[in-house]
Amino acid sequence: MKDARDLWTQFVCEACGNRVLRGAHEWEQHKLGRGHKKRILHLKKKAQNLYFIQLQRQSTAAMEEETSTS
Ligand SMILES: [Zn+2]
Repeated sequence: MKDARDLWTQFVCEACGNRVLRGAHEWEQHKLGRGHKKRILHLKKKAQNLYFIQLQRQSTAAMEEETSTS
């Protein structure tokens, strides 16, 4: 009976503002949507930028020792 349950599993897309999709089919459709893909791309870019900034901070922090201006 696991399959029947999976059909109605709720999926929450955090990238799209916690949008709720009911069932694997809706989720698959949603993932193919343009809006969703755009958001995922944006999030990925953001995440990469954040990572980059963190790396920069680490290297500059080592040189400047204590500067807590963000
Ligand atoms: Zn989405």
